[in-house]
Amino acid sequence: QQNTAPRRLPSADDILQGNRAALARAITLVESRRSDHRQEAQTLLRQLMPHTGKAIRVGVTGVPGVGKSTTINSLGAMLTEKGHKVAVLAVDPSSTHSGGAILGDKTRMDRLATNDNAFIRPSPSAGTLGGVAAKTREAMLLCEAAGYDVILIETVGVGQSETSVANLTDFFLVLMLAGAGDELQGIKKGIIELADMIAVNKADEKGNQDAAAAEYRSALRILSPASTQWKPPVVTISGLTGAGLEELWHHIEKHHEIMTAAGELSTKRQKQDIRWMWAMVEERIQERIAENIAAKERIPDIENALTSGQISPMAGAEEIFKLLNI
Ligand code: GDP
Repeated sequence: QQNTAPRRLPSADDILQGNRAALARAITLVESRRSDHRQEAQTLLRQLMPHTGKAIRVGVTGVPGVGKSTTINSLGAMLTEKGHKVAVLAVDPSSTHSGGAILGDKTRMDRLATNDNAFIRPSPSAGTLGGVAAKTREAMLLCEAAGYDVILIETVGVGQSETSVANLTDFFLVLMLAGAGDELQGIKKGIIELADMIAVNKADEKGNQDAAAAEYRSALRILSPASTQWKPPVVTISGLTGAGLEELWHHIEKHHEIMTAAGELSTKRQKQDIRWMWAMVEERIQERIAENIAAKERIPDIENALTSGQISPMAGAEEIFKLLNI
């Protein structure tokens, strides 16, 4: 839970040595909202920052039921067999309201949950989406310092969470299902624009997966690519049997090589750092508003004054800044 203190402070050395309990405690620390925890978390992160950044960071999205957990379970197991250390994190937009994290669920990732070279952590269960994403970013950095060289970040492709995850990762994988009729039905165009690869899942089932893949290929052709270096491929996979996952991973590695060589990976990460900084600032301001009783009590009056035309939005904002001492 958010506000329970970890009993012993995790040390940077424990984390660098790959101590899983220390890593788990450190993540609890960064997720905490208590200001003393926050300071401890900042100190720890400062010590560990030089040991971060070496992982391949992959976002995985798709509608509920598309097979994210199943695919991450198989892909993660395959990667640990290749000698990788895999961390799975989740950004769950529903948990920011309901308090119940549904992603990164260990029972749905049974092969990874019992794997010494894998680490699974569900979504932090409170806060704004921006705040959850910022904390997931810090959790990711801690995992990198602990030696995890592949980070898989799962999110449901609804709302804005996919954009948040794309902003955390190097590579954005969109899982799709072959449906009857219009393949793009119900799928927001925005999500395809973020995709570095589309994988049509459940290729082991009878269906028109190849036709779906062809449709996504033509959908991608009419979008202008985010990079001149990379044309997002469309593959068919089975998260359940593992079919196609070697090819899928090959594309991700290839992308990493190309983007690193072109200097685009570091540019992308620099831009992400800027967004991360502002997300932290926004989160802190939101918290200040929530904590500030005077501001909370005055805000309905300010809103009423605004709707009744007594004050302008600018004047209202100024009043709120005054209450917050900004
Ligand atoms: P998520 O909600 O996107 O995480 O989806 P899950 O991984 O929980 O999978 C939803 C359902 O689809 C489960 O019953 C899985 O067993 C099934 N499933 C996932 N991937 C595949 C696949 O490649 N083939 C088949 N036949 N079923 C799959």
